[in-house]
Amino acid sequence: MTDELFEKIESEKPLTAPDLRKILELESPADLDRLFKAAYAVKERVSGRKVFLRGIIEASNICVKDCYYCGIRKSSRNIPRFQLSATEIVDAAMWANTHRYGSIVIQGGERNDETFIKLIEDAVREIKEKSAGHLGITLSMGEQTPEVYRRWFDAGAHRYLLRIESSNPELYRKLHPSDHSHAARLKCLETLKSVGYQVGTGVMIGLPFQTIDDLVGDLLFFQKMDVDMIGMGPYLVSRDTPLAKEMPDFDAMKKHQLKLGLKMIAAARLLLKNVNIAATTALQALDPRGREQGLLAGANVIMPNLTAVQYRSSYQLYDNKPCLDENSEQCRFCLERRVQSIGESVAWDEWGDSLHFAARKI
Ligand code: SAH
Ligand code: SF4
Repeated sequence: MTDELFEKIESEKPLTAPDLRKILELESPADLDRLFKAAYAVKERVSGRKVFLRGIIEASNICVKDCYYCGIRKSSRNIPRFQLSATEIVDAAMWANTHRYGSIVIQGGERNDETFIKLIEDAVREIKEKSAGHLGITLSMGEQTPEVYRRWFDAGAHRYLLRIESSNPELYRKLHPSDHSHAARLKCLETLKSVGYQVGTGVMIGLPFQTIDDLVGDLLFFQKMDVDMIGMGPYLVSRDTPLAKEMPDFDAMKKHQLKLGLKMIAAARLLLKNVNIAATTALQALDPRGREQGLLAGANVIMPNLTAVQYRSSYQLYDNKPCLDENSEQCRFCLERRVQSIGESVAWDEWGDSLHFAARKI
């Protein structure tokens, strides 16, 4: 049975829902090794043996949302809230530019007030001007109106990352308060595309209540939405959040969460071929070499942290986030070494837009 599956995978035949289910159920080290190698071969063909960087600036931990899993949710007490000024965001971005990162992501809690919207708009415009258009800018600021998405696009952002969190509306409902809407999030993804952004989405993997069929549904959702980028990662417990009590012995789950995360990357690469897929920090939180394993399972993007050390510990979406005490310079050095350790190189100075987007635009 597995032979048939691998024959299909390795000859790159279209994968069906039952195939994806079988992929996610593979367990033996030999099967997993074969799966990751097949996904890596596709990655190598569509994107080369190089890793694209997105330096991530965590611009604010102030959030109007109250997602049950997230450490910076509105109801979280005892975390100092911060908001970077436009100048602080621009300075971090220019550091990335000088250090040849090619692209940045500005991410943060969701805010819908005009002061915030204008701050981001001004920062994006200034980064574009100061870097002479050189630096690619991705935003990840949650759900906004079409007008806001357009303003930020016109200011110079060209990619947007908005995870659907789960493609299953029932599961989404269990993870969020009743005023958080799956349909609204879906609408935002459509709007982002129509404004002209390269659009990324993703899910959390290994969530309480989530089944393998939910994950198969997520992969098919990515395909149906025809997105350009995938940013997904294992669910990690953030203590003191409502969802934490659903996974009381998280430490015992770590290996499982990592393996499932890697299988999802491989399945996404095999199914979607030419999209950009990030090896997210959540993988590294589970294993010091988690991101390298993500690259070897088919991912081609890494997001090194550019946030000033004084703010890092206040931006913990989940517990045990790695690299809290490392500055941007240390992150850059560590990252290059890690990429080289698996025989790949960093694509310095490149935007690394997904080939999928180029194909979609024609
Ligand atoms: N506020 C924006 C962007 C910041 S949150 C938004 O929600 O879109 C970025 C991502 O972090 C979320 O999409 C979610 O998938 C992820 N995240 C939050 N809490 C997490 C947790 N406990 N474990 C793993 N990922 C988490
Ligand atoms: Fe806010 Fe994003 Fe966290 Fe939800 S996941 S609480 S929107 S920062």
